[in-house]
Amino acid sequence: MRLLIAMMKHETNTFSPIATPWQRFVDWGAYLGPDVVKAYRGTAMPIGAYIDLAERAGADLVTPIAAEAMPSGTVSAEAYKRLTDPILEAVAKVGIDAALLDLHGAMVSEDEPDGEGGLLEAMRRLAPGLPIAVTCDLHANLTERMVRNCTALIGYKTYPHTDMHVVGRQIGQVLLDSLEGKCRPVMAWGNRPLLAQTLRMGTADEPMKSLVEAARAAEAGPILAATVFGGFPLADMPDAGLSAIVVADGDRQAAAATRDALLDRAWGQRDDFLYRGEPLDQSIARARRIGQGPVLLLDHADNCGSGGTQDVMTVIAEVLRQDLDDVAVGAVWDPVAVEVMQRAGIGSTVTLELGGKTDMPSIGLAGKPLTITGKVKLLSDGEWICRGPMYTGVKVMMGPTAVLDTGKVEIVVTSRHHEPWDIGIFTSVGIDPRAKRYLVLKSRIHYRAGFAELARATITCDGDGVTTSDNSQLNFTRLRRPIYPLDRPNHWPED
Ligand SMILES: [Zn+2]
Repeated sequence: MRLLIAMMKHETNTFSPIATPWQRFVDWGAYLGPDVVKAYRGTAMPIGAYIDLAERAGADLVTPIAAEAMPSGTVSAEAYKRLTDPILEAVAKVGIDAALLDLHGAMVSEDEPDGEGGLLEAMRRLAPGLPIAVTCDLHANLTERMVRNCTALIGYKTYPHTDMHVVGRQIGQVLLDSLEGKCRPVMAWGNRPLLAQTLRMGTADEPMKSLVEAARAAEAGPILAATVFGGFPLADMPDAGLSAIVVADGDRQAAAATRDALLDRAWGQRDDFLYRGEPLDQSIARARRIGQGPVLLLDHADNCGSGGTQDVMTVIAEVLRQDLDDVAVGAVWDPVAVEVMQRAGIGSTVTLELGGKTDMPSIGLAGKPLTITGKVKLLSDGEWICRGPMYTGVKVMMGPTAVLDTGKVEIVVTSRHHEPWDIGIFTSVGIDPRAKRYLVLKSRIHYRAGFAELARATITCDGDGVTTSDNSQLNFTRLRRPIYPLDRPNHWPED
């Protein structure tokens, strides 16, 4: 048996000014051929589970590519071709029995608004009926084309995404069983006109908590896989928003009934998927009144893990203005500032124009640096290994990194984008996050993986940036309409 195993992942924020050329994938990790197995065997990723399953089954592995980039703007046509060509060439030339794909589900390229659907359709065009199993992120924007061109599809049930390996193993096993005739996967999928907000998709809280419980309850019965996708609301494409997919063993009716139950429940809770903000000065003032740390301050509108520029200084400026003490910031993306600090050297005092190097035309904001004076406390190559529970064992490459210490605030400054979901962002540069009173994190929900258990309190801070939860700042042009909450007709069809 010959199995194709590949990974292609990018969450595309079409409002983000950060370009996504092929190099961005190389920066995070783009592996070809046998290097795929070397990089991902034993990791907690879906592809790690696929490799494990295939090797145990004694299969020949064909691993054309495993590539991921941090979320950012629309993927260049060249990058999309370089991601998909190796997979399509393998399908065309090698002669494979089945494919196991580790995808995201919200990739938009210059010439393909449905990146994953385009790949799957092209694979099936070369090999009609090819059995294909797919894992997607909880933030996938599921499309009819994706579902039509695969055999079994599942998404993560956790946000932060700590069950990637579990769902990879689950859907990989379904596919292997189907090859042996032990089961016959059939799928039912659907969506509701609901643009849910990422900040309201944490699976420890409602409304996702009970939706995930319902999906798990279905899987405890005869259903092979059941997923509710929160969707990715910052990808301006027709199918953005909440959806569900159910894989049953031969029973289409059971799949459809389970799907409807999940979608009806989600639609009934649609108001709970909307984030309600608070003026920034009030949030920081609230933080000031909390006696004991660590208090997490979430700069969620500039979350590079959803395409943020990671150099918006609004929240940090307010932290300085209200004179918070004993603060660590993870992290500001500013390669120019890192170079300045490298030239100055450890121990020297520098005055910098920090951050604010990137304009955000989609939301009408120009980059606005913040003048800061501090000591260069540490310089590093920015490389470390995730301890988990997310991306456990995966190497992080933040690029040349520096710590700027103002006396009250220690700011980690990096040369590549990286969302703080693992305490390594601090420990790798000599900062103990448990000992700090405040931790400013440019993150929305993934911070929970590494930081929830050490936090005394968490405060959501509404700064500026292209991962805003304020829909009034975003101009959607390709999204299907009407959709809740952008449009509020008096009577929705399902009411
Ligand atoms: Zn995600």
